[in-house]
Amino acid sequence: MSNIKVRFAPSPTGYLHIGGLRTALYNYLYAKKNGGKFILRIEDTDQSRFVEGAIENLIKALEWSGITYDEGVFIENHEVVEKGPNGPYIQSKRLDTYSKYVDQLIESGDAYYCFCTKERLDNLREEQRVKGQVPKYDGLCRSIPLEEAKARVANGEEHVIRLKLPKNRDIHFKDLVRGDVTINTDDMDDQVLMKSDGFPTYHMAVVVDDHLMEVTHIVRGEEWLPSTPKHVYLYEVLGWEKPEFVHLPTVLNDDRKKLSKRQGDVSVEDFRESGYLPEALVNYLALVGWSPEDNQEIMTLEEMVDKFTFERVSKTGGIFDKKKLDWVNAHYIKEKEDGELLELTLPYLKKAGIVDDAFVANNREWLEILMNTIKEGMSTLKEAPEKSAFLFEDMGEITDENLLEILKGEQVPELIDGIEAEVNAVDELDFETAKGLMKKVQKATGIKGKNLFMPTRIELTGVEHGPELANILYLFGKDKIVERLEQARKYL
Ligand code: GLU
Repeated sequence: MSNIKVRFAPSPTGYLHIGGLRTALYNYLYAKKNGGKFILRIEDTDQSRFVEGAIENLIKALEWSGITYDEGVFIENHEVVEKGPNGPYIQSKRLDTYSKYVDQLIESGDAYYCFCTKERLDNLREEQRVKGQVPKYDGLCRSIPLEEAKARVANGEEHVIRLKLPKNRDIHFKDLVRGDVTINTDDMDDQVLMKSDGFPTYHMAVVVDDHLMEVTHIVRGEEWLPSTPKHVYLYEVLGWEKPEFVHLPTVLNDDRKKLSKRQGDVSVEDFRESGYLPEALVNYLALVGWSPEDNQEIMTLEEMVDKFTFERVSKTGGIFDKKKLDWVNAHYIKEKEDGELLELTLPYLKKAGIVDDAFVANNREWLEILMNTIKEGMSTLKEAPEKSAFLFEDMGEITDENLLEILKGEQVPELIDGIEAEVNAVDELDFETAKGLMKKVQKATGIKGKNLFMPTRIELTGVEHGPELANILYLFGKDKIVERLEQARKYL
């Protein structure tokens, strides 16, 4: 057992972005690979962004994905519960802890009260913008003597607390993906640590929590890279050892922009509803920004754990390629047992009105063979109704010249008679019988190969290619086979 500890620390915005799922995944892989621990912490200090049910959604999305964690926030008996030695794991329950450390920073002179109004800050920002400067707090309140500031606070004056950065000091840290980073404090802002509502900012809370929760590696999206120097400085003034930092490349769309809700599916829940399997989504996401040394693409979670290293995480954004995701999903769909696939597609089949509970109860074997028949070439579970439609819809007229030519073949009348005879000879066309049926027709009629299969397939389905003929025969059953063959006589 190592003492490696990582965390996934989402803000409860209402859904889990797939970029977030990938961050969670890389944390998980690293923890598992190194025998470490993985924490799920909820960062909800921005009360204006509070969304009802968001924590539950996050936990459920992670649960669905198969990414597990050791400590933090869980759902048990429909309740959000917390487990682990360093809780609470929901930041809004830790306000006293943050206050304690902010007070410590005030006393040590590393933070100060700031009474600047929103108006003043807006004007300042506007002036800086006009002059072409980077917006930054000008430090007006830095020089207010502490006793005076405390008296103003005691008087109820609205205020925030800011980090007091030293002038002209280089802040260094090493990122395990990005390498060495150095930034001068003159290019940094006196970050607000405590807001006027008494809540800490993300920056204060994240440093305090990562330290108290004994996090050894901070693995998160690269959008947090610019904030890291402030965090590093906070570790220093709080007298804490800083953890390792790992910033992951953003998940991008084809235009190299951050994958956003406007372009369609971005949340784990969206992908779930669109018929993606968790193992496929996770497998594919692993490859957006990382590849194993042997370039294997289809991997189980265990294989990923085995192969994962930060050295092979890319520095640049990973493009989210929907086609590739579909390909990975198709792979996992094909691997499913028929019965399991049926369970997974049933919600879609029911929604499309193709089956109901009574039908499912009475036709399970039939439905499983349907799954076996359509799973080849299915990219998402959602496609199950359209892939099954050939069984439930009328075939329509055959108009394709080439197909009509085949149906006019010399041996076709005898073929139709032959199939009908064999079908009528059995009481019930079970799957085993269906598998042997064309062989019997061949024996009885002497028609074989292409002349046997091609016209039959076209007569039954109206198209030249498709699933196994034996499956089609079984799924159609006696009546439908005869009905379609009779209809096909008009093309003779
Ligand atoms: N709460 C931040 C987010 O939702 C997490 C940043 C971090 O991991 O430090 O992106």
